[in-house]
Amino acid sequence: MTAYDPNNIFAKILRGEFSCHKVYEDDHVLAFLDIMPRAPGHTLVIPKAPARNILDISAEDFAHVARGAHKIAHAAMQAFKADGIVVQQFSEPAAGQVVYHLHMHVMPRHDGVPLLP
Ligand code: 5GP
Repeated sequence: MTAYDPNNIFAKILRGEFSCHKVYEDDHVLAFLDIMPRAPGHTLVIPKAPARNILDISAEDFAHVARGAHKIAHAAMQAFKADGIVVQQFSEPAAGQVVYHLHMHVMPRHDGVPLLP
């Protein structure tokens, strides 16, 4: 697997070199709105520690990201009056990963409303 690249866009967001619409932050994770949302409230949850994807992080550290996604999922259900939630994570090009800093997508869903492509 390719090594972590500290110049990826999410690393720049973490360093404050690139802006984001922050939704939540704690000692371990940052959550912010996706710049090309597939649904209203589409949020990305990332670890503050460098990790390329789920194949590059310990179970212990991934638990912080999962806890963040859990928090965002519950908050988004209320904030967007959603009917359901999709949580997704893509690791490596074969899986469709585009940005190489681990992130979990949290997407509120509404009955009868398809995700944007
Ligand atoms: P993935 O790597 O899981 O395929 O998707 C990367 C996600 O990051 C995409 O949904 C894309 O819209 C989002 N994204 C890419 N660049 C930026 C950015 O600069 N800011 C934000 N907020 N989201 C981004």
